[in-house]
Amino acid sequence: MTSATSRRGPNEDADVIVVGAGPAGSTAATYLARAGLDVLLLEKSTFPREKVCGDGITPRGVKQLVDLGVDTREEAGWLHNRGLRVVGGGVTVELDWPSLADFPPYGVVRPRNDFDDLLAGCAKQAGARMVENTTVTGAVTDDRTGRVVGVEGKSGPEREPVTYRAPLVLGCDGVSARLALSVGIQKREDRPMGVAVRRYYDSPRTKDDFLESHLELWDRSNPAEPTLLPGYGWIFGMGDGTVNVGLGILSTSKAYGNTDYRQLLRSWLDGTPEEWGFREENATGRIGGAALPMGFNRVPHYRDGLLLVGDAGGMVNPFNGEGIAYAMESARLAAECVVHAMARPAGHSREQALGRYPRVVSQSMGGYFRMGHIFTKLIGNPTVMRMATKHGLPRTTLMRFVLKLLANLYDAKDGDAMDRVISATTRLTPSA
Ligand SMILES: Cc1cc2nc3c(=O)[nH]c(=O)nc-3n(C[C@H](O)[C@H](O)[C@H](O)COP(=O)(O)OP(=O)(O)OC[C@H]3O[C@@H](n4cnc5c(N)ncnc54)[C@H](O)[C@@H]3O)c2cc1C
Repeated sequence: MTSATSRRGPNEDADVIVVGAGPAGSTAATYLARAGLDVLLLEKSTFPREKVCGDGITPRGVKQLVDLGVDTREEAGWLHNRGLRVVGGGVTVELDWPSLADFPPYGVVRPRNDFDDLLAGCAKQAGARMVENTTVTGAVTDDRTGRVVGVEGKSGPEREPVTYRAPLVLGCDGVSARLALSVGIQKREDRPMGVAVRRYYDSPRTKDDFLESHLELWDRSNPAEPTLLPGYGWIFGMGDGTVNVGLGILSTSKAYGNTDYRQLLRSWLDGTPEEWGFREENATGRIGGAALPMGFNRVPHYRDGLLLVGDAGGMVNPFNGEGIAYAMESARLAAECVVHAMARPAGHSREQALGRYPRVVSQSMGGYFRMGHIFTKLIGNPTVMRMATKHGLPRTTLMRFVLKLLANLYDAKDGDAMDRVISATTRLTPSA
């Protein structure tokens, strides 16, 4: 990589440092390395490692995998699904993923310990230098300008202090966003958050053509007054004998922060049919949970040498809690901007190229996320939620439209009437 060394100064360790090897970091590192940049990918854990997730990937995420060159055929270990099964209000509706020009007609599931390992492998194969067992504790900034010029952290079994320098740093460190916090980029309180918990069970429901989503989550902790919570439960067959079952709740709910989510999961699952197997004796691990940062809840996405990508930039879809597709999509956009920036001399011209990143990421997701924010406020009201479940679900055409909207699956150009409505509304909704 001879050309790469000329892009950086003598005291720098790489052209770009990427912090975190989740879907955002590994995708960004792959694109950057393929473009000939010298990439240092720092990861606090050691692969393969677990990540608490539903493990479900919609066609939007599959598109990102295909773009990256990943073989998504079933022969390559992916369990395909053909759509979403929605359960609520006493009704069950099965909806195939829409047939579109922009997206494949199937989703996939794959456990994250395997999925993230595979993506990190892509990054390494492309030439990124991955250093595991290295926890970044904060950014290194230039005393004079305040610009991010590297990162510091602790590495290896002895937790040795380490410092790495590079002209640009990508924060792909997930919801904790330690890097962003170290330079004072706080989360926005006016944006929705979610919280989700999940557990694996041995279950006869392990093979399923559909991702299953339950719209009615009842909190029965006070039996005299059960409350319908804004959020949903999922049952995703993993194909290997196990099922990933979980639930997510939105911050717009009164219950947010006051609920024991693990207990809520247990009480929901206790109410499911015995033969599904979602009982303590069939659990294959503990309940894991984490926050879902939604709707761009951490901005700016670029400032002074630091780009925020994926969960670190609050890029979970407020409509459905999906984050992998958006982490990979923002990573591709960030990589494109960085490659162009690094082809220019440091200074004004390079900054212009980097300034494009928040704009393109906003064009691609901002209007849609804003609509999602409005949606989360609406379903935070239990009456609206109850009405929607009762009257909406039995209407098939309406549900097809809702699926396109909730999963962000429509053709931006030349689509059908439903696609045109979503596309126009997304464009008209201000992303700020
Ligand atoms: C219970 C639950 C269920 C979910 N289900 C789904 C689902 O079914 N489908 C879907 O699309 N999304 C789902 N999501 C959301 C999805 O998990 C995230 O949006 C996605 O993982 C974001 O990817 P990322 O690369 O931005 O961050 P992460 O996947 O969190 O990756 C961040 C990486 O950075 C590393 N890291 C963190 N801090 C540091 C540090 N200081 N130094 C070095 N490395 C660091 C971490 O170890 C990790 O490898 C779910 C989330 C939860 C909590």
